[in-house]
Amino acid sequence: MRIDCKHVWGYISAYIDGEVDADLRAEIDKHLETCEICSAVLDSTRNVVVLVSDGRVFELPAGFSQRLHARLDRELELSGPS
Ligand SMILES: [Zn+2]
Repeated sequence: MRIDCKHVWGYISAYIDGEVDADLRAEIDKHLETCEICSAVLDSTRNVVVLVSDGRVFELPAGFSQRLHARLDRELELSGPS
């Protein structure tokens, strides 16, 4: 199975929560080793999760995830299909 960036983004919160199965996790790990964009997404998503689980009142702004994905789509286009 081959996954691309959009698959990784779709799975990223499940990945952080440890809710993806071993095969998928291995594929995502492999992808993250070679993809700077997804590594950055993972880092920033982790930061959000940490804030939430810290017990502080923290709400994602409405549309946060749509805006993030739109931005990623743009960066992906700029960096080419590789
Ligand atoms: Zn990627």
